[in-house]
Amino acid sequence: MFVPNDFPGRRALSRLTGLFLLILLTALPLAAHGDPADFDMKKMFQGDAHISDSKDIVNRYLDQDVAVIDMHMHSGSFDNMGPLGQAFVLNAIPLPLPDEVKRNLARVIADLTRHPFTPFVGIRNECRKAGLSAAVLFSVYTPEAWGVEDNATVIGHLDDARNFYRGQPFFYGFASISQVDWAENEQNALAELDRALSHPKMVGVKLAFAHNVEPLDNPAFDSIYQMAERHDAPVYHHIGSSPLRRFEDFPDEAGRQRYYRSFHPQFVEGTLQRFPRVRFILGHMGFDFNDEDVDGVDEVFRLARTYPNVYLEISAFGSDSHDPDGAVMDEILGKAKEYGLIDRVIYGSDGPGFAGATEKYKDKTFASMTRLGYTVEEVRQVMAGNFLAVTGLDQRSSFKLAPLRAEDTPADDLKPQTNPGHDH
Ligand SMILES: [Zn+2]
Repeated sequence: MFVPNDFPGRRALSRLTGLFLLILLTALPLAAHGDPADFDMKKMFQGDAHISDSKDIVNRYLDQDVAVIDMHMHSGSFDNMGPLGQAFVLNAIPLPLPDEVKRNLARVIADLTRHPFTPFVGIRNECRKAGLSAAVLFSVYTPEAWGVEDNATVIGHLDDARNFYRGQPFFYGFASISQVDWAENEQNALAELDRALSHPKMVGVKLAFAHNVEPLDNPAFDSIYQMAERHDAPVYHHIGSSPLRRFEDFPDEAGRQRYYRSFHPQFVEGTLQRFPRVRFILGHMGFDFNDEDVDGVDEVFRLARTYPNVYLEISAFGSDSHDPDGAVMDEILGKAKEYGLIDRVIYGSDGPGFAGATEKYKDKTFASMTRLGYTVEEVRQVMAGNFLAVTGLDQRSSFKLAPLRAEDTPADDLKPQTNPGHDH
């Protein structure tokens, strides 16, 4: 097993050598919708699991090669999670351990699995196992919930010398913005977003009103959409409840109403109307993650059929804990086909989650499209084409997707990229 000196998890490894057995016993969710049912402990740290760039892993549909881009990935660490996120993760460790031990365990697993470039278990390797051609890292500003992965950190990953695959960038980014103390901080926050969006690999804006319990229909945030319009960047809204917050967590009706307005799709309609030139990606389809009778899937479809600037992203709800037999994914992809909206549907998983979860979500999505009789062209749109269109990447003369086959790749582009002098 080859472990280079700059292996970013090296310190973390030495910190907890001997606790690996515990890691293997632990079903620990670290994605935004971490899902114990997705955990496959056999796949964790499999010795042959490091995928070199010359190894072909190609997704096939009806005997055709299909490029796949996952538009929804989270880098990060345990310590940059907010209190609700940390509590969620610690609660999910099914072991009778003192809190401090659990925290160290969570820390080491996050260091290994949520860093983009960790060999064997990092995000890039998980994506390669799934046969992806590229993926998107999200900046996140939700201090109470999943925490803060700021634009500078994500840009650091995008600029990392290892962010190449067969001669092309592997990760792109969606920038985000702090909503804290908006009345006072609006101008600073916007200036920061402006800078982030000027980076050539930052190709969209990711917003998390639900996690910040900020109403979607509050026009005070219109300046964010104006900024997106100026950069011609699509805006991703998390639409649907958060697994970190249930209605019962709010002490009064006013709090519950405010939360409802932060995630239900009906409250984003005014924004869609006021900004017809901004492309909005409605993430998670308005899915009712906590089973609280607030499903917004039909409303999301109504919005997509009414407004041409609406795109639909299909991450998280298709995981085993929400959709064990694929019925939810079948219903949503089936309606997209029935309504003629396949050119708006964009693939994402909300990973990396557990080892193997990125691959599994992709496989479940392909299986659903097979059951529904999608054509090869429709599959190509959902799995990559619509993402390239909504971000405008397909309009850039310099843009190329990495070749699916090593034989089509210049030999120099198959050499591993290193990151000299970069100490984590
Ligand atoms: Zn997410």
